Amino acid sequence: MTGPTVRFLGGVREIGGNKILVEDGPDRVLFDFGPSFSPRREEYYVDFLQPRSASPVEDLLEFDLLPRVEGLYSREALQGSSVPYRAPEVHAIFVSHAHMDHAGHLHLVDPEIPVYVGAGTRTLLETIQTSSPSMKYGEHPWKVFADRVPIRVGRIEVVPFPVDHSVPFAYGFLVRTSAGTIVYTGDFRQHGPRAADSRAFFEAAAAEEPEMLIIEGTRAGADRRKNFSEEGVRTAVDRVLDGCATVALACTYPRDVDRIRTLHAAAVEAGRTLLVSPRTAFLLASVAPHFPDGEVPVPGRSAGLGVYARKKRRLFRWEEPLLDGAQSAAEVRARERDYLLALDLMHFPEMIDLRPTKGSPFVHSMSEPFSEDDVDDRVMHNWLDHFGLRFHQMHASGHASGAELDAIVRRVRAAKVYPVHTEAPEAFRSEGVDVVLPELNATYPVA
Ligand SMILES: [Zn+2]
Repeated sequence: MTGPTVRFLGGVREIGGNKILVEDGPDRVLFDFGPSFSPRREEYYVDFLQPRSASPVEDLLEFDLLPRVEGLYSREALQGSSVPYRAPEVHAIFVSHAHMDHAGHLHLVDPEIPVYVGAGTRTLLETIQTSSPSMKYGEHPWKVFADRVPIRVGRIEVVPFPVDHSVPFAYGFLVRTSAGTIVYTGDFRQHGPRAADSRAFFEAAAAEEPEMLIIEGTRAGADRRKNFSEEGVRTAVDRVLDGCATVALACTYPRDVDRIRTLHAAAVEAGRTLLVSPRTAFLLASVAPHFPDGEVPVPGRSAGLGVYARKKRRLFRWEEPLLDGAQSAAEVRARERDYLLALDLMHFPEMIDLRPTKGSPFVHSMSEPFSEDDVDDRVMHNWLDHFGLRFHQMHASGHASGAELDAIVRRVRAAKVYPVHTEAPEAFRSEGVDVVLPELNATYPVA
């Protein structure tokens, strides 16, 4: 093939793990580089069993969990692997957003390859690295892009557009090549606070008359799980807190700033204080400057926001200042009615000290499990039952629904549609739409 091409090195028939290589003549740009959340990976690596840090690429290649690409990995990461080290042959990596499945393999990349991210994502990645010791993104020449300002990498021009997703600072891209434009959506939704951004992106995408639409399809196909809008979550939480005389507990995804804002607003409305972990407090303080003033609550500055100090032997340096004036389990027990406590599943043992009044609400503001025999879900319910808490499911997904995806495909009118980040690519097939089901590692001409 002589014209520009696209190779799908991940995100094929799996949720997450997008690795999309665009090649135009001598120029090569990679979009996203993280592990998938697929059952395929979990066949070999689970919580307690992970690749060795001395030979990460070798251990992942063993099960085809990474692409065999030369001129991408660092010399150090390639230790012991069958892929020889070559000087960089990928000229830029664009990361759509800060979620693990899009950025989690960056530490394996040659430190000479520039990594392009939004300014907010740069802050987020740094914050995550500081406050989660197991997360490393590696050393790179970081390049920060601005909204809708084109970046040229040889013959390829990339225009980043902000989109709405369950982590802030998420982007979709228009990728202009010598044979036409590729639209790559990243992950997105249009039922959150930045829905207008997603719509503006798809309008710009349609105006481009693209050759290819590479679209995520997390919720494509049969998805019976209940989905709220972000406003819907707010209304539902308000209802739970209304007239509630006990403590209320909630759990969310750790980087879902929108959800933390929603919980905070609901707590304030109900005359309560939202208590968050030091890690969440650190995150809020870090990202707040990227938002209009006052939009993101900051501990110590915003009313109705506090920090919960769980029982811990050792403190990290970054968390010490945040624990000044933090509330302990004893304080929450003494004034239950004053608090909405955000408690991660991994910190459930705090309930042993909290002893919430029987019947206190627990708001599960995360995805429902995919399967009925989900171990984490069973364990969570065992704890809730043991302490007699009332379970409420209230979540706004980070992804567009099947019907919305269909409408977008029809609006953008690309010559060909390539579904990624989905277990149901066939669901995109419909009258008058040319859908290509990409194969892993296969190369496709742009036009
Ligand atoms: Zn994703």
